[in-house]
Amino acid sequence: DTIGDNLARTVAAHPDRDALVDRGQGVRLTYREFSDAVDEVALGLLDLGVAVGDRVGIWAPNCSEWVLTQYATARIGAVLVNINPAYRTHELEYVLNQAGVSVLVSAPSFKTSDYVAMVGEVRGDCPELRETVFLDGPDWEALRAAGRRGDPAKLDGIGAGLSPDDPINLQYTSGTTGFPKGATLSHHNILNNGYSVGELLGYTEHDRICIPVPFYHCFGMVMGNLAATSHGACMVLPGPGFEPVSALEAVQAERCTSLYGVPAMFIAELSLPEFDGYDLSSLRTGIMAGSPCPQEIMRQVIDRMGMGEVSICYGMTETSPVSTQTRRDDSLDRRVSTVGRVGPHLEVKVVDPGTGVTVPRGEAGELCTRGYSVMLGYWDMPEKTAEAVDPARWMHTGDLAVMDDDGYLAITGRIKDMVIRGGENIYPREIEEVLYTHPDILDAQVIGVPDEKYGEELMAWVRMREGAEPITRDALRDFCSTRVAHYKVPRYVHVVEEFPMTVTGKVRKVEMRERAAELLD
Ligand code: ATP
Ligand code: MG
Repeated sequence: DTIGDNLARTVAAHPDRDALVDRGQGVRLTYREFSDAVDEVALGLLDLGVAVGDRVGIWAPNCSEWVLTQYATARIGAVLVNINPAYRTHELEYVLNQAGVSVLVSAPSFKTSDYVAMVGEVRGDCPELRETVFLDGPDWEALRAAGRRGDPAKLDGIGAGLSPDDPINLQYTSGTTGFPKGATLSHHNILNNGYSVGELLGYTEHDRICIPVPFYHCFGMVMGNLAATSHGACMVLPGPGFEPVSALEAVQAERCTSLYGVPAMFIAELSLPEFDGYDLSSLRTGIMAGSPCPQEIMRQVIDRMGMGEVSICYGMTETSPVSTQTRRDDSLDRRVSTVGRVGPHLEVKVVDPGTGVTVPRGEAGELCTRGYSVMLGYWDMPEKTAEAVDPARWMHTGDLAVMDDDGYLAITGRIKDMVIRGGENIYPREIEEVLYTHPDILDAQVIGVPDEKYGEELMAWVRMREGAEPITRDALRDFCSTRVAHYKVPRYVHVVEEFPMTVTGKVRKVEMRERAAELLD
């Protein structure tokens, strides 16, 4: 199936169930209304001259138009290019040109950014950009009006000519470790992945999924939107951008059964002073993913949010994204301490990054994944693709993992974040887990900093709970030294209000290391 075929099936089965609720805009659509709106936008894009394979950019925070554009482009075989809402002119120009975007759908503004002005600034330097369609105004209205005048039969004609292996999405990676790369994904890649994630969570048409994670990332558009529409479930958008209060309000008001977030989002929700005032009793499940999921936070999500069936997913943009997932029937211990087992129709192996040979169970190595979910390639970057995907189609993830005898995987960190101190390999993750158990510490990150004697030393960055005194270096070292071997005790401590983050909510350790170098100078 293509994404269009799959949506048609859901509409036929559940025409009157809610498809989409956008609380930011007060929009509510049933599956029939949603599908009609998708067709209207698709015909509107055809009217703008969009053809199969053309790149259509979308630059907006989460909103109903984002979702409509996602399904409309898939319907007509155009390639949707997700553009990070945090980008500024330099990055915008890079993506528009790198992907050869011809039509750009854009919000007029987001937070303090004036998108209209920024698009105006770069336009002259983007020769392939023909049309811009700004939301919340006459452009979008005109597109919808043209769509209403269009001939729906055209869409079926185009749909019949599409292949599930066609590229339909260009997603840039989070840029956690460097400049974002554009992963080219097909219907087959992302539809199967969204469907599979939803299956393992037990989604049906009765589920209502609260999606505060960004659509520009696959967490939102695949694990959220495609998982929902392939099961007839409802997508609930709390609003543009992430606000812990709006997310919990949406769960309460819409009786959501599922809630998504990266660990930082769950931390923000759980630490709201008014947390206990929310009625979250409708929650059954959800997903925590995107970066290392602290056991302590997982336990609180289960105990205090009532998300007894919550799942940890592990994956990356290049693999559509999910490769491994914890299941409802896994033991509690495995559901908080591992990223689960490999998903259906996928393979994983853990190899020595130097030799490529599979390491014994229980030993750390680079995680590699293979199967339907592996991207077609990085857009227009054959040499980068060849570095990441080997000739046997294994995706080399750059993540370190350990597989146990039953096939459960634990992610020990990124290869690039591993610290080598005096010849000992240290996984910062292990020390972060210890710091999370400190009663005054809200959030903790550990990095390696250059050291003359040992090559590298550990530095802990911590955020304190409200009202707690900043922890001293000695207190932190005492706390750690009874819990981990002496060489893993951080030498330095830095108390901060916030960590440098990507919009997908990931901590940018690259930036922490740069700043740490300045601190130590
Ligand atoms: P870039 O590739 O641009 O540096 P990125 O790798 O953060 O950014 P994404 O594709 O969004 O971009 O994220 C995938 C990465 O996120 C994985 O390679 C892994 O390091 C991390 N990750 C995702 N899920 C988990 C998880 N459950 N536990 C630990 N790490 C995770
Ligand atoms: Mg990556």
